[in-house]
Amino acid sequence: MALTLETPVADRFRLTPPQRDALRRLGIVSVKDLLYHFPTRYGDTVEARHIDSLEKGDTAVVFGRITGLKAGKGFKTKVTMADGTIEDETGRIHCVWFNQPYLAKMTPEGALVRIEGKVSQRRGEAGELYFSNPKIEVVNELPIGVGDSLFGDGAAAHNLYPVYPESRGVSSAWLYHNIQKIIKAGLLDELEDILPGHILVKYHLPNIRTAMIWIHAPMKKDDAESARKRFAFEEIFLIQLSRQKARAEYKADPSFIIEPPQRSIAEFVKRFPFPLTGAQERASAAILGDFSRDQAMTRLLEGDVGSGKTAVAAVAAFAAVTTRPAIANAEGERVPQKFGNLQVAYMCPTEILATQHFESFIGYFAYLGIHIGLVTGSGCRVFPSKVNPKGWTDISRAQLLQWVANGEIPIVIGTHALIQKSVAFKHLALIVIDEQHRFGTAQRAKLVRKNEAMPHLLSMTATPIPRTLALTLYGDLDLTLLDELPAGRKPIVTEIVYPTKREETYEKIRQELAAGRQMYVICPRIAEPDPDKEAAVIAKSVKEEAKRLKESVFPEYTIGVMHSKMKPTEKDKAMNDFKEGRIKILCSTSVVEVGVNVPNATVIIIEGAERFGLAQLHQLRGRVMRSSDQAYCYCFAETTSEKSVERLKALKTAKNGFELAESDLQQRGAGELSGLRQWGVSDIAMDALKNLRLVEAARAEAARFISEDAELAKYPSLRSAADAKDVETHFE
Ligand code: ADP
Ligand code: MG
Repeated sequence: MALTLETPVADRFRLTPPQRDALRRLGIVSVKDLLYHFPTRYGDTVEARHIDSLEKGDTAVVFGRITGLKAGKGFKTKVTMADGTIEDETGRIHCVWFNQPYLAKMTPEGALVRIEGKVSQRRGEAGELYFSNPKIEVVNELPIGVGDSLFGDGAAAHNLYPVYPESRGVSSAWLYHNIQKIIKAGLLDELEDILPGHILVKYHLPNIRTAMIWIHAPMKKDDAESARKRFAFEEIFLIQLSRQKARAEYKADPSFIIEPPQRSIAEFVKRFPFPLTGAQERASAAILGDFSRDQAMTRLLEGDVGSGKTAVAAVAAFAAVTTRPAIANAEGERVPQKFGNLQVAYMCPTEILATQHFESFIGYFAYLGIHIGLVTGSGCRVFPSKVNPKGWTDISRAQLLQWVANGEIPIVIGTHALIQKSVAFKHLALIVIDEQHRFGTAQRAKLVRKNEAMPHLLSMTATPIPRTLALTLYGDLDLTLLDELPAGRKPIVTEIVYPTKREETYEKIRQELAAGRQMYVICPRIAEPDPDKEAAVIAKSVKEEAKRLKESVFPEYTIGVMHSKMKPTEKDKAMNDFKEGRIKILCSTSVVEVGVNVPNATVIIIEGAERFGLAQLHQLRGRVMRSSDQAYCYCFAETTSEKSVERLKALKTAKNGFELAESDLQQRGAGELSGLRQWGVSDIAMDALKNLRLVEAARAEAARFISEDAELAKYPSLRSAADAKDVETHFE
């Protein structure tokens, strides 16, 4: 059978079962997948030395073949160790690793390796030289001049070698050789370049064939860089195209034109127990501006925890439910509608948050005498109750849905239960989405009735992400930042606590607790490649930490736990117990219930703080930013490494989460941004997020392509690639 891009790797190469498994783990099925398995970096061989030139005390890199690998225990010390000998054309030298016996097992006997480390010398006269604990890496081939005369053929005329993501069973070297075989078989000619020629020229990007050769076997660093840039541009451009396309679709149909009198908004806001911040004013104005146009709003409100997003959503909801709308006809004329009573759907990620917002909305809207509904998996409520006009009552789901369908309930707050098929609105004009980035076209379609005007969309998030990522992932949304906290909030006292100060810090905390306050304890992030295993390990550490605190630190208080292995109802119970003060200290993982408001919790401890990204630490600390009382965040560091402590200090100086997200991106790379992997962005595109100019260019081009032709009729392969991107990022 002819070799094509779709040929399964298993048909092309004779694979052992471990190799099959490894390729599956790496997501490589077809030959094309193999071509798209890119190196993560390139090793450089220019610094390489010959073994016979090494001297005691040198820190050196050598290339050669490793043999005699074995693992065992030190003769006297009983420390586990591994050793082996590396040989090049000029000599041999012993390598010893302590406490890393697996190195001997993971490295194939006789492999070509790169060794980097310090040269030591055994005691005694003319003691033998050896590498102690060197870094070892299996390489594809020996660089020219170092080994080719000893090992024969092979060495290419370049001194960069690619390092691929490996998995047990297939090494970087295996990947390299087999990718080269595919390239030599002429398969690159089959690859279609989906990027239009004028784009390649405009941005100096290599075509797909050249880029493939350069990324897998670059002659120089610049070529590898150009190739990576091309693939990154391509991916970001595709994401942008799919987002811009979604935006164009959303804007294609008319929406409700909502123009409330200025005065009525001002009166509504005047009833708030606080004046709006400048940022809240600006956000409200942006939303009302969107409402006055005849296309649906698609706006993202990004603001730190506590910046007051709910109040902004309330202003938008007020405008929608109190204004008689117009809808533009085919000629673009505004036709006033007869009906009042537009409706608002407010979606929350958890029941607790939905209930919390239901309560705040009653506070904001009660005086108007309008109905507010709550829909969650565990039941429905409506405000006001017939018997108690100041309170709410439980009602059946069927009854509530009926009132939603006939328009009697203008504001409905709920969880995912809100977007089930059975929920129908009469005139849905505004969808508010709290902390749920991936409300896709399909979900929206469920809420919107056929032939009805498009509802406006207000998405809200506290996840601080860098600008480049927001521009990419939310390319279909207009961005408003709430970059100001309400006045009078005391800044959180944040301290980086070294291991030696732990006891002292507990004593300080004891005073807060004695004064009636509550505390969160966040257990450290534990990196495990398998998410299930990770959740289990963290759950264990949460339980152990709770036990330790109870037994030896705060025996006088009740301590609860919460982690992602618990059932939703168990989590809700723990959170409620905490909220109502039955639990004094809540030990939890970092992932759950970020937005819940417990004003009496004013202390948070974060264990293993250096393992978190700064933006995530900031979000965690936001949990205690809820009251006007002084709040404290103690970041317990496990190391005293100056670098990680330096990094943590940014928490004390940064003005907001976005600033911290930017520094995470610059210092630790996009991989550190929380949740990025699940958004389905590749490593190469993540890297490119550091490059604002590239992202802006891709976005501008995508917007231009879509505005000229939303269907991309001239670029069918670009269109299908963009559609595939949409599926990936919305519904994985
Ligand atoms: P977010 O959803 O952005 O995290 P919330 O909307 O829950 O924040 O608001 C947090 C708290 O701040 C609430 O108790 C709210 O009543 C209060 N709040 C909102 N806006 C202001 C303001 N302008 N001034 C004072 N307090 C405010
Ligand atoms: Mg909120």
